[in-house]
Amino acid sequence: MSLLVVGTMAYDSVKTPFGEREKALGGSATYFSLCSSYFTDVNLVAVIGDDFEDKDISLLTDKGVDISGVEKKDGKSFHWKGEYGFDLNEAVTIDTHLNVLADFNPVLPASYRKSEYVFLGNIDPALQQKVLDQIENPKLVAMDTMNFWIDSSKEDLVKAVKRVDIVIINEGEARMLADTPNLVKAARYIRELGPSTVIIKRGEYGALLFYKEEIFASPAYPLEEVFDPTGAGDTFAGGFMGHLAKTKSSGMDATLLRQAIVMGTVMASFTVEKFSVDRLAELDRKEIAERFKAIKKLTHFEHIED
Ligand code: AMP
Repeated sequence: MSLLVVGTMAYDSVKTPFGEREKALGGSATYFSLCSSYFTDVNLVAVIGDDFEDKDISLLTDKGVDISGVEKKDGKSFHWKGEYGFDLNEAVTIDTHLNVLADFNPVLPASYRKSEYVFLGNIDPALQQKVLDQIENPKLVAMDTMNFWIDSSKEDLVKAVKRVDIVIINEGEARMLADTPNLVKAARYIRELGPSTVIIKRGEYGALLFYKEEIFASPAYPLEEVFDPTGAGDTFAGGFMGHLAKTKSSGMDATLLRQAIVMGTVMASFTVEKFSVDRLAELDRKEIAERFKAIKKLTHFEHIED
């Protein structure tokens, strides 16, 4: 089943306590599409500049990602410069240059308009809505965002939230959007805007699912080495949506959502093991399945009698 994603395709400058890289391939849509290509057919909507290298496009097309919705424009690609201290959960944005994204007007190829699963990745919420407007009858729509857009475009962002089924957001941004320090209250605030489901990503502390009246928690996979957390959130979403699209279920239910969250956790855990998309690009289905099993084992415990 096809999964459409809109988001950024970027060159990042990233510094972590373990190293730094200029012109690292990144962007919310790049991470998401590379990740979800392990599960399903992916239709990518994004804009790139004339500096975007063919080898970086091939990385996606070699994995079967459909790039007919990627527009190439004169100018530079989106650029994000960020840093992490020893608290790898917190990315500090040093600079954001929208570049070709500033006047992007996405027009979807006809073949994309029937996409059933849609992920509105981290990008201007006005663009998220323009993309959603062009999809005929989506079965499931999820979105992400970040502080940059909550600060600059909150009104548009709330409009976008009202139109989706699932919001996947990190804990700091959930607090900021809902204006409360409490994550349970933040999830309720977001659900009251419309989405049936809210997923709050908590970096090395895992993720929380709020679905109807149910709450489920997945831990993060305990890794001894984390090199670069960039893209963890986008690949979490890619694993989550990829699993849902692959499973071709007739609808959402708590069992499927729990599995999908764990698949998101699995994919995010691979991403952070190396810089940029390096680890994500070299995965195979067997190691994905093995890590899924490892998380099941990690969280299993027996019932006790009273
Ligand atoms: P994540 O670490 O999963 O939250 O996402 C990291 C990616 O998001 C980086 O590769 C950046 O290029 C991209 N990014 C950073 N800031 C923004 C923004 N304001 N809008 C969209 N994408 C962004």
